[in-house]
Amino acid sequence: MSKIVGIDLGTTFSVIAYLNDLGKPEIAPNFENNQKTLPSVVYIDGQSKKVQVGEKALNALATEPEKVVTAVKKHMENECVWSIKEGKFIDKNTSDVGDDEYTPAQISSLILKKLSEFNEGTNKVVVTVPAMFAESARRATADAVKIAGLELVDTINEPTAALLYYASIPDIDVSGKIMVFDLGGGTFDVSIAEVNNNNIEILTSRGDKNLGGHDFDTFIVSEMAKGYEKEKGKALSAQDQRKLLPIAEKIKKSLSFKQNTTEFIDGPDGPYEFSITREKFNELISLKVTQIKMLLEEALDSKELKLKPEDIDQILLVGGSTRIPEIINLITSVMGKAPVKGVNVDEAVALGAAIHAGLNTSSSNLSASQKKSLKDVKLSDVCNHYFGTGKLEWDAKLSKHYVVNDVLIPRDTKLPYSITKPYSTAYDGQEAIECQVTQSEHEETDMEFVNIINENTILSLPPNRPAGQPIEVTFTYDKSGRMNCEFTDINSGKKEIVELRPGSTLSPEEADLDFKIE
Ligand code: ADP
Ligand code: MG
Repeated sequence: MSKIVGIDLGTTFSVIAYLNDLGKPEIAPNFENNQKTLPSVVYIDGQSKKVQVGEKALNALATEPEKVVTAVKKHMENECVWSIKEGKFIDKNTSDVGDDEYTPAQISSLILKKLSEFNEGTNKVVVTVPAMFAESARRATADAVKIAGLELVDTINEPTAALLYYASIPDIDVSGKIMVFDLGGGTFDVSIAEVNNNNIEILTSRGDKNLGGHDFDTFIVSEMAKGYEKEKGKALSAQDQRKLLPIAEKIKKSLSFKQNTTEFIDGPDGPYEFSITREKFNELISLKVTQIKMLLEEALDSKELKLKPEDIDQILLVGGSTRIPEIINLITSVMGKAPVKGVNVDEAVALGAAIHAGLNTSSSNLSASQKKSLKDVKLSDVCNHYFGTGKLEWDAKLSKHYVVNDVLIPRDTKLPYSITKPYSTAYDGQEAIECQVTQSEHEETDMEFVNIINENTILSLPPNRPAGQPIEVTFTYDKSGRMNCEFTDINSGKKEIVELRPGSTLSPEEADLDFKIE
């Protein structure tokens, strides 16, 4: 029987889960130390090509921080590479990745490869992504799966996966309007769903792909650096400060249980005793807490929903940073009720991904018990961005055309979805149309504020025609977030099809990585 596997490829921790023979999702622990979560940390020695992933890599941060990659997920969307020479992420200026440079997808593939070792026979995988991940980051995730030598069955949004898990366990009765609040190490997502029995309908998601526990750690490090400089008269270098991250994280965690804490930290001028109170920590994170509050309110107030806090029946937590008392206080004060207790904030996403993998496996590959446990589970998600195309408008004053963004698929549209919109050619003798596809978090008309995710496809048109020839544009977005965009010239029947996120487009050579994971 094929293994049905779900992976939570987290900023801080990654987890792999599978459906057991009874159809229940279970974590596959690291056989080296029996831990259920693997730190998403990679040690790379450029010369020997030696790689370590997880705990060992995390330990190397204290001695060789320049060889340790942390929080690679934060870079999945960016045009940057990890430079072995510089020991940090640098902008990718040239079109080629240099010999000692590695893309975020390549680094992530090492984490996936290590994880897949915990579950023998792993081949096909479902990988989770933050709800707010942009197209480029989703594609980079697909690339990482390919480089790891695995096959991507589907990606699923993290809060959606967590909800799938919570709705499937008998311990918690999940029904009605549910809020999933997911604050991890690198990202924040909040989703609102309607759950009836096994029918899960995501209504909206909001979030910030750059907001999480890592930010809180760096605030503590800055505070340490300030204290160090004040006492010793010497500033800590950037690398010195990176070394302090694990201690800052330890301090942050202990402040979830205690009111104050003290640690000795090392610097070029000897050790320094650093003390901090929970109150001070709350002050350091207050701007981020306000940001979270605004996103919560935005999710409730989203266009179609217009919900009040009291309309939400239950609040479920996901992510390690939901252990912070100030975060629980925030949720309780905004929502007027406390979140559900006793949930598994570290494992819910991976366990839900394993269920999703089961739902995406042909039933001939499922055991009778697996089939039974997945029976009747229905899941629908929404589109988390606005998708549109560039449209020419005429500026009468300036007597010239200019391009505006025209939205075809608004955010929160229930998937799958298809829309066809009529356009026409703008001027006499127009011989081409640029088949642009745009993505944005807000409803924008200004092209300055959108990401153009496809632009080099040209639909060539027959010559010598007057303006006003009908053109049809069809955007189709499936449940997995794959989009098909068709640009058709009605009279000639000519068409261009743009397929977005068909998975990884890496060639076998690009997907080849000659590292040895220890
Ligand atoms: P990700 O999905 O981004 O990998 P996780 O959900 O695993 O993140 O959460 C990891 C984050 O949670 C880290 O920033 C970690 O420091 C933080 N965290 C874990 N436990 C605690 C705690 N007790 N108090 C505060 N933060 C915590
Ligand atoms: Mg997570």
